[in-house]
Amino acid sequence: MNRHWSDEELIGRMYGVGPEDSALLSHLEMCPQCASRRQELERRREAFVESARMSLVDENLLRDQRVSMWRRLENARRPWAWRLAPAGATALLLLFALVLHKPAPQPEPVEFAVAVQQQVSDEELFNEIATMLNETTPRAAKPMQGLFDTGAQMEVQ
Ligand SMILES: [Zn+2]
Repeated sequence: MNRHWSDEELIGRMYGVGPEDSALLSHLEMCPQCASRRQELERRREAFVESARMSLVDENLLRDQRVSMWRRLENARRPWAWRLAPAGATALLLLFALVLHKPAPQPEPVEFAVAVQQQVSDEELFNEIATMLNETTPRAAKPMQGLFDTGAQMEVQ
């Protein structure tokens, strides 16, 4: 039995469940067409695994970000602290808008930043968001923490 491998058989072989027929196996070793198709399938699998890993990282990043935001809002129990809640909600909406790649409609793209934003690819945008999130969290947390410390001291007085 000497014939080209089907895609299903090649994929099966990648996962260790391919045909065991010795003639087919030696064909795979000899045939340049089957070899290049196998390479292509492996390349596609790697690309898929990579993109799946990226979206997993993305999900974890967003979840952590949401958790830390909610925790900060939850901690803001005192009346003066509730004034900070709208800012947190706005930041959350802004985050979703960025992540969904749907920037708020701009009346006119006159600003330099807007023009630049239109030129960045999705990957660059993702990296940009990831960087922004990593920078924003500690920066946003510090002033909040400072306010809580002050509040505790004032309560004691
Ligand atoms: Zn072949």
